[in-house]
Amino acid sequence: MPIWRSGTGKKMPKFFIDPAALRAGDRGQQQVTIGGEDAHHLARVLRAKPGERITAGDGQGNLYEVELTEVTPEAVRGNVLAVGPDQAEPALKITLFQSILKGEKMDWVLQKGTEIGITAFVPFLSARTIARPAPHQFGKKQERWQKIVTAAAKQSGRGLIPTVHPVTPWSAVPPKLTGQFTLVAWEGETTCSLRQALSARKELFAAQLVVGPEGGFTPEEVAALVRQGARSVSLGPRILRAETAGPLAAGLLLYHYGALESTPSTFPNNGR
Ligand code: SAM
Repeated sequence: MPIWRSGTGKKMPKFFIDPAALRAGDRGQQQVTIGGEDAHHLARVLRAKPGERITAGDGQGNLYEVELTEVTPEAVRGNVLAVGPDQAEPALKITLFQSILKGEKMDWVLQKGTEIGITAFVPFLSARTIARPAPHQFGKKQERWQKIVTAAAKQSGRGLIPTVHPVTPWSAVPPKLTGQFTLVAWEGETTCSLRQALSARKELFAAQLVVGPEGGFTPEEVAALVRQGARSVSLGPRILRAETAGPLAAGLLLYHYGALESTPSTFPNNGR
């Protein structure tokens, strides 16, 4: 969890606030209340005091600098000193379409993809998907995966909580890609590497990545994606496990477009 200084030199982790917890204070400034585990952590573990500052994200890309006014294990209140775009969020918004993988492998893709900076996940079913939940399980799966992503976003200090979209049937995948910059990772691709696919684009602010299941894509599936405008790319001459391919490709895209540079805090004088 990234840390910011508290105004008294104490290192404080970044917190998350629910935007609904913001309200107008009596002197026109915004006030925020933090409850639950975070309040307990601030009061009992970090021994935060009124007057100290914390930084908090709202999970929607905004970063707040807050001066604490009241600290108890039940609730911590503070005045918002400044709000800015959360620099922990990459400008490049990547959506990873991942054919559902068995058990922990899917959890791994969601957790590591969130830490790396993926903005949304679309779990889908393709011809060779092995882990095929029954339709009545789709909701529960999505809920569980969203919890994994939310926890990883908090741990890694994301400014945004990535979205896990509903389980998507193959028939709906190609149409979702229309007009979007889309790369399909295909080990059968022999002419276009990821570097080549990116060299033609100086800037990129949205990208779709499509990665197959343990059994890979059928040639017809790759052709259907390419017909929809996707570019099939090789991730090298070695066969990667599916759970390696997605996070790797996302990391390489973010690196290529400068989204893995360490950025200064949004607030230049944030407790330094
Ligand atoms: N067909 C593979 C095999 O022969 O074992 C199985 C698929 S691979 C385990 C799972 C997915 O990872 C593929 O569908 C593809 O999306 C991606 N992938 C793995 N290695 C790749 C590579 N070298 N280049 C591009 N994509 C790759």
